[in-house]
Amino acid sequence: MKPEWQKKIARERIDILFEEAEKAFPENKRRADRYVELARKIAMRYRVKIPKNHKKRFCEECHVYIKPGVNCDVKVGSKERAVKWECRECGHIKRYPYKG
Ligand SMILES: [Zn+2]
Repeated sequence: MKPEWQKKIARERIDILFEEAEKAFPENKRRADRYVELARKIAMRYRVKIPKNHKKRFCEECHVYIKPGVNCDVKVGSKERAVKWECRECGHIKRYPYKG
């Protein structure tokens, strides 16, 4: 078990890395991917979960940084009652069910 203060620092670093990835993405996609990779490594090392708001920002299959309309297609599947995020890099589809 890692002490809680270490986990707190790890979470903060993950936040920063995703912010950096967001900034880097328009200019240098590969650099954004690197930030995602680093964030994932920190999450694994310190056994912390990547916050939900960041989880949407990378492909869980090929781990690249994804941005809707740029390298990711967002479609609403009314039949499935889910929003589908399709990664253009690998074709992986992530479903986010919605209510109603
Ligand atoms: Zn992918």
